[in-house]
Amino acid sequence: MSEQKKLEKIVGVKGMPDILPADAPLWELFDNTVQSVLKSYGFQQIRTPIVEPTAVFARGLGEVTDIVEKEMYSFVDAMNGDNLTLRPESTAGVVRAVLEHNLTYDGPKRLWYAGQMFRHERPQRGRYRQFHQVGAEAIGFTGPDIDAEMIVMCQRMWDDLGLQNIRLELNSIGDAEERHRHRADLIAYFEQHQDVLDADAKRRLYSNPLRILDTKNSTMQEMVNGAPKLIDYLGAESLAHFEGVQGILRHAGIPFTINPRLVRGMDYYNRTVFEWITDQLGSQGTVCGGGRYDPLVEMFGGKPTPACGFAMGVERLLDLMKASGEQFARNQCDVYLVHQGDSAQLQAFVLAERLRDAGLDVVLHCASAGSGGSFKSQMKRADASGAAYAVILGEDEVAQGIASIKALRDAEHENNQTKVAFDAVVDFVVDQIVGADEHDHSEHIHYHH
Ligand code: ATP
Ligand code: MG
Repeated sequence: MSEQKKLEKIVGVKGMPDILPADAPLWELFDNTVQSVLKSYGFQQIRTPIVEPTAVFARGLGEVTDIVEKEMYSFVDAMNGDNLTLRPESTAGVVRAVLEHNLTYDGPKRLWYAGQMFRHERPQRGRYRQFHQVGAEAIGFTGPDIDAEMIVMCQRMWDDLGLQNIRLELNSIGDAEERHRHRADLIAYFEQHQDVLDADAKRRLYSNPLRILDTKNSTMQEMVNGAPKLIDYLGAESLAHFEGVQGILRHAGIPFTINPRLVRGMDYYNRTVFEWITDQLGSQGTVCGGGRYDPLVEMFGGKPTPACGFAMGVERLLDLMKASGEQFARNQCDVYLVHQGDSAQLQAFVLAERLRDAGLDVVLHCASAGSGGSFKSQMKRADASGAAYAVILGEDEVAQGIASIKALRDAEHENNQTKVAFDAVVDFVVDQIVGADEHDHSEHIHYHH
């Protein structure tokens, strides 16, 4: 071995971070909280593949969007020549699946999804090449009520996650005909300001001028602020829909500001668009975006079916949770099983299963490199595990048909060790742990400050 050249390490793909065990409690808390809110509004989970035919996104998102133009991981399947893409978002795939399985045959559907998305962007804080979204899609609903319900549901998620300082921006981008009239005036306006347009804007001037309003280029801000506002082009129906959303939000006590320049990146949106934004994360401050996308189902060859949805960026929301200063940690187990000798090991396996049957989390000491199996080194591991109790099976214990139980978190009873008959261990430990829990009103999962 020593003669051999040491092999170079392989590292992960840039912009696709690993999520390590230290962050697992935070992710788990996030997932559980968000999923229970979704459930409480009657949303059902749908799991679509991470890979879709490229056409799903090319058609669904529009050819002239950031995502389709330059952010997609597209490739040809070498086995059969299929054009495939790692999903950059999930709405298009969900709509594809809804149509493929005729999910709305018996009425509208409230759906949610969660998972990885892939976009080839410049990695930075809050912007990755693999990231996670949780999103919801309500398919087959016509009125402003579902738009408002989704926003109310988001607010409940922020509340349940303990997040403050996320503000809501709202706009209506009207329907196709209204956007068409606005677009003509918008192009004329931008043509008058050619000198201020950056390269991106020039390229989009005739293909997707609306998107220019969404620019992050500060030198264009002033010019963009003076551009014709889509909201001034809305007809009676679009206005009534927009008013409807606002009315429900006001009544529900959800503050919002109307941002007339808010448009969404994807072509499929119409009428209501919204974003949840925080100032605590620098320039990557949008934590959730959504809106209505009535034309999309038809664009996929289905019959006209109105719809509305949103997607939130999980990494950005977790960043916010961490910024609150709270520590998210969890012990590895309730009980660590220490044992010495062959017959003790066999008994330890039996005992560990019994403890797990009783609902406890148990780590059984197993042989590992770098640490001897000595009693001392096992006790070190027990301590590090965060367990409340070490259950010890040594040769003496086995001979006597007992186990020794040591409280690890009990400072007052330092070195307090109790001997309990082998068959009474489970009851004893359960009593101790339940008793302690009742005493300090904490649960098995401790999120402590
Ligand atoms: P941005 O303007 O920041 O690029 P977007 O309009 O492309 O956002 P959406 O497609 O609406 O974003 O996605 C919804 C949410 O997903 C965003 O609000 C954001 O929180 C998150 N998100 C989008 N792209 C990324 C990324 N590359 N890395 C991490 N989170 C992302
Ligand atoms: Mg983007």
